[in-house]
Amino acid sequence: MWLRYSFENKMDSIMKKYQIYILAILIAFAVSCSNSTEPKYTEAFTDTWGEITSDNPKTFAASDVSQATIDLTLKWLKTASDAWGNYGPLEIWFVGDSHDATIELDNLWCNTRQQIDPKWNTEWDCANGDPYGSGSGWSPFYRYVDDGGAAVATYRRDYFDYYFLTITMSAKYPSPSETDYIPVTMHEYFHVYQHSHIMDIEQNGDKTPREMKNGGSQKPWFSEGGAEYMAQLLYSKQDGVESGYLKERMTRKFDSVSDYKSHGVRLDALTYDSPVSTYDVGAWFIAYLIHNEGEETFRVDFYKDLNDLGFEGSFLKHFGKSTNEYVDAFDLFLDTGLEEALIIIP
Ligand SMILES: [Zn+2]
Repeated sequence: MWLRYSFENKMDSIMKKYQIYILAILIAFAVSCSNSTEPKYTEAFTDTWGEITSDNPKTFAASDVSQATIDLTLKWLKTASDAWGNYGPLEIWFVGDSHDATIELDNLWCNTRQQIDPKWNTEWDCANGDPYGSGSGWSPFYRYVDDGGAAVATYRRDYFDYYFLTITMSAKYPSPSETDYIPVTMHEYFHVYQHSHIMDIEQNGDKTPREMKNGGSQKPWFSEGGAEYMAQLLYSKQDGVESGYLKERMTRKFDSVSDYKSHGVRLDALTYDSPVSTYDVGAWFIAYLIHNEGEETFRVDFYKDLNDLGFEGSFLKHFGKSTNEYVDAFDLFLDTGLEEALIIIP
């Protein structure tokens, strides 16, 4: 899932409200400073984007999120980073189901940002205590209280002095008590992996150069398909997961193939709004790609060259076909039906 980011400039109304909320922010700041476990960011900023790090992700949680949820999430994120490499700087933000706790979390977000990066724009990028009001800045968290889900966001922008990624996890859809929570955690980490291989810095809020290489609104079939299949594949290899797990998951995802065929739009032209699960059909595409080319070729070689060669360049170099040709071959593969298709699933 990709977090959409609005750059609407709402400065006029913000400036009116800002003075009212600064007191609340200062109080929250004092509270957060009094917490001895609060990370301190005194070191000079160095750009470590795309490098393997030994640092653990930093975690921030709303007060209604349990330690068990945090521990569970970190455990499976570690499984993913052990498998794919530990990238960062990464922050994990946990949203629960209390609106008030989320407002506190947003204050913590805004204070943390200002503490790390004096250039952080509090007018645009802090909700300023008005999470649902139309006149405030932008908060990354409130929609998750009601809608659930999880997302990765990249903060590699020309107007920042500190580059980082976030994973936002909500306690809803799926809840930590559901098995699905685990592959969702790994799915999000694969997005971190993908983005760590793209060095473009957003200029004036323009995500397009990054998204042309990895998903967002440009290539969800590949980025979501990759995150989904890699997460399910990795989870299927864990101790205690039944042997037929991956085939069962991919059988369910094959249900979307008939929608895809009747929709009549090519896989690489599907968007988040298409009436087809781009995640499901995309996951089948990555399964097909990995079956043909090998997991290392996809995960390591393709992503290693992605930044320098671009999406089509690295695709052609490592998979030997253009995306057009590969999608054509994939469409024929789907026509063989579920039973034949399942043969390629380990
Ligand atoms: Zn995703």
